[in-house]
Amino acid sequence: MKIALLSRDPTIYSTNRLVQAARERGHEIRVIDVLRCYMNITTHAQSIHYKGEELKGFDAVIPRIGASVTFYGAAVLRQFEMMGVYALNESVAIARARDKLRSLQLLSRKGIGLPITGFAHAPDDVEDLIKMIGGAPLVIKLLEGTQGIGVVLAETEQAAKSLIEAFMGLRANILVQEYIKEAEGADIRCFVIGDKVVAAIKRQAKPGEFRSNLHRGGTASLIRITPEERSTAVRAARIMGLNVAGVDVLRSHHGPVVLEVNSTPGLEGIETATSKDIAGLMIEYLEKNAALAKTRAHRQA
Ligand code: ADP
Ligand code: MG
Repeated sequence: MKIALLSRDPTIYSTNRLVQAARERGHEIRVIDVLRCYMNITTHAQSIHYKGEELKGFDAVIPRIGASVTFYGAAVLRQFEMMGVYALNESVAIARARDKLRSLQLLSRKGIGLPITGFAHAPDDVEDLIKMIGGAPLVIKLLEGTQGIGVVLAETEQAAKSLIEAFMGLRANILVQEYIKEAEGADIRCFVIGDKVVAAIKRQAKPGEFRSNLHRGGTASLIRITPEERSTAVRAARIMGLNVAGVDVLRSHHGPVVLEVNSTPGLEGIETATSKDIAGLMIEYLEKNAALAKTRAHRQA
């Protein structure tokens, strides 16, 4: 196969591993910086150009689009899709997953366990908002945050009220969420490919911290997940329409609850902790499904 890997940085771990895994399996793979692509969107003459040449003949595309370039990245990916190139994750699914609120609404509609969650922009009655979620302690999140930045714990109702009012003053969209204390600063990252959790790690927050993000000093270790956690993660990925996803789950008194579904899960933490060849599994999935998509397209033609 000829594979396009959409990534802005050829030196990072995940990009390197995907390139290596594809080459090991005899594929041709090229790393492409989406921001440098320019496109012709004319009817019947769609094309993508890159560094003065037309990108042609690709069988599959692996999107690794960073949160800061979602808009343009999704447009380039969509262009590949319109030209009949099989995408490991489709542009619509990535755009959906990047919107935390929309994701939670979709998951809740389908009955996936979530922490009790409220959403607000400029509530007139902050006390009622707090009451609606069940009172303090509460977690307050900026809708646009990643890597744990913009996630705060309000231990008392007074602190929650002040924080919500402060965010309101900044005109930010916020999520107000039940604090899952019993998770004890740990969450589970389930790496989903297709209809399987191929690896799972537990991330534990450093002492005195409730956010388990590795970027916030959390540590990763192996974990055995329950069948319920497994099926929750797979269903969450499917609801989002993602073939590859990192589903973050907390162990709560009311069963597994999903925190978020990541459309571009990193490989370093999970491969290092589990010693599994996740990049290889992603390429294998791509091989099978790009071929299937091609047969289907031929049949329809
Ligand atoms: P981000 O997108 O910035 O990673 P998350 O919603 O994943 O934001 O929150 C970061 C971390 O904070 C989580 O990995 C988890 O450890 C902790 N956390 C988030 N929400 C809750 C909650 N409702 N209860 C307990 N811990 C939480
Ligand atoms: Mg997170």
